[in-house]
Amino acid sequence: MTAMGSIWSIIGQTRALTQLQRVLGSERLASTWIFHGPMGVGKYRTALAFAKCGLCPAPSLRPNAGEHVLPALPGDFQLIEPCGECPSCRACDAQLHPDLHVINRQLGSVYDRGGKSRRTTLGIDIIRGEMIGDDSPDHRVESKLYKHSQMGRGKWFIIDEADLMQPVAQNALLKALEEPPPRTYIVMCTGSVGDLLSTIRSRSQQVAFEPLPADVIVRRLMEDGFSATDAGLLARLSENSLGRIMSWLPAAPATATGKKSAKPATDGNILRVAHRVAQAMDHLLMGQAGAGDLAQVVNDGAAMMAEVFLSHDPTASKDRSTRDGGMVTFALIEMWLCDRLRSAVGRPVEFTLPSTAGAMDLDRARACMEICSQAAAQLDANVHQPTAVMNACTAMEAVIRGVA
Ligand SMILES: [Zn+2]
Repeated sequence: MTAMGSIWSIIGQTRALTQLQRVLGSERLASTWIFHGPMGVGKYRTALAFAKCGLCPAPSLRPNAGEHVLPALPGDFQLIEPCGECPSCRACDAQLHPDLHVINRQLGSVYDRGGKSRRTTLGIDIIRGEMIGDDSPDHRVESKLYKHSQMGRGKWFIIDEADLMQPVAQNALLKALEEPPPRTYIVMCTGSVGDLLSTIRSRSQQVAFEPLPADVIVRRLMEDGFSATDAGLLARLSENSLGRIMSWLPAAPATATGKKSAKPATDGNILRVAHRVAQAMDHLLMGQAGAGDLAQVVNDGAAMMAEVFLSHDPTASKDRSTRDGGMVTFALIEMWLCDRLRSAVGRPVEFTLPSTAGAMDLDRARACMEICSQAAAQLDANVHQPTAVMNACTAMEAVIRGVA
């Protein structure tokens, strides 16, 4: 496969790629970019590819023809792609390039001295430490923005989930955007462009990313070895976000060459949790199992998903990951319940897992869904997890048995 195939093959985003290919060939590249669009459609991967292209000293050219074509560009247009082989490209692949800086909320644990960070914001300490520096006498930090490029091809800063920047952090960054150092490029990826200050927006080139159609995601997952049933389930559960799906599958282990396998593992992931949840709910509904059995399945699901989350970010808190795992497991139960509602009103089910349970009484299904969303909110709010899970399962059993 060519470098083009692996790097610019972001699916379903031909408009954004066309816009970027047009500017990559030009002499003067804008310094500040906003990539905006739904979560998990390839904004961050495109930003990495864009930076890798800009940093490669010998990018290769190929005409816009053949396998990957951008229809809005003429056939003789020369598409630019990173060579994929030079020290710069290899450093980018290994995430070790000295001129490529990624700013994300995972850095919260580095800057949070108490270790309690939930990593839900990009605070001013992160923006100072990773970009603009700090010249206050207490904690003097050198500005990475104003440092010289180490490999001589400029510097790139990618801010993932830039909408998590607090206003004070955005204002601090704004000063740098007003007078950017030469050959310094900042790409902000965001699901919500409205959460960035208008003063930042007005100084940035904006690139819009589109939602991915479900069939595109299903096809892509089937190419990776998933069955049509499982691919449909993942698309539905993720609300068609490929990025979210990838976060639910174990991170591909790095091989000896340091290259990650593109193929996600199809076992040990959310699908196993989904199948167990469906079975446990079937049994609960048919009186073959009780609240304790369901609680066990939820706790196992939370632990299994926590392992998956930690495989992506080994520095994350285990407690937080288990809570996130529990929230995903309750979301699966809600989806299963939603299908019982659909059955009750004669609509086709969307939870494409085998279930022996048919329709469920409307009021009971709704009450159980409410219990699930309350339980998820409690997990998010740090309520003691085993208690919250057991209480929710007991409440659902009572609703189903008609004693609540
Ligand atoms: Zn290269």
